[in-house]
Amino acid sequence: MRVVREDPQWSVQPDLVRRCVDALEEPIVSPGLVELVFADDLSTAVRARLSGSEAASYSARRQAVEAVARVVHRGPHTSVVVATPILLGLEGANIDSTWIIAHEARHVAIHQYGESTSDGTGRLRMSVDYFTAVAGNVIEEYRVERALCDRGQLLTASYNARLAGVVERLTPVFDSVASVPESKGIPLVTSAFYQLATYLSYVIADVLASRGAHVPDAMGQPGWDRLVGSAWDMLTGSLAVVPSADVRWDRADADEAMRRLVAPHRDWLNRIGLQLHDGPFGRLSLRAA
Ligand SMILES: [Zn+2]
Repeated sequence: MRVVREDPQWSVQPDLVRRCVDALEEPIVSPGLVELVFADDLSTAVRARLSGSEAASYSARRQAVEAVARVVHRGPHTSVVVATPILLGLEGANIDSTWIIAHEARHVAIHQYGESTSDGTGRLRMSVDYFTAVAGNVIEEYRVERALCDRGQLLTASYNARLAGVVERLTPVFDSVASVPESKGIPLVTSAFYQLATYLSYVIADVLASRGAHVPDAMGQPGWDRLVGSAWDMLTGSLAVVPSADVRWDRADADEAMRRLVAPHRDWLNRIGLQLHDGPFGRLSLRAA
């Protein structure tokens, strides 16, 4: 595995680099195909490794929470890019920052085993289907976090604690759509809903791994019924049968699980009050539900 430093102004202790490499190599089958990139600026380092419109549009900034790391696949090669300032901040706060790497490592493992659902749109031969992409991502993020929860790496508790804030920050995003043109509303909604679904998949991994002992603090808080509501039972029920990233999964079963989650995600957004339709050439249209 190659280690690339794109963070000249930061001093990362060799011991931390070693622990990150170990955490990354642990679950994957071909470490030789992977580079671990320590980046001062996550957005810049990721954009340099993406191509086309994906490169132009990538930003680590989110409406709800900022991204800490990103995996980029190019053919069989993978870059795991991690934001050095955030990594060092966690170390400074006595949080095991290699947990971030252990998470990304499982995305890489899933990719190397040919089980990725976060690239599900191609797999299901749908040109560009937004809800398939959301469903595939939810499944993969759940698998990754579930593996860490099962190993007792429960930083997921902090996801749980921050869920109320995520719901609070995303609610005005969905509300703002009514007063902006469709061309502005579509990226707002697609990004906010993707984040909401992804974030819930992390929390559900914790809840299911704890066999129900953990309950999200955000449940019953203002905004919960509007943004989550019955989607909670839909997601917990669907994900309960999905194996963790540390368990190999039959490709056909993965595709089937993804397919089954497409319509429930579309219905969920309808209940939030918005209808998103996939048109030809990946064009989306948006209207009030
Ligand atoms: Zn992830």
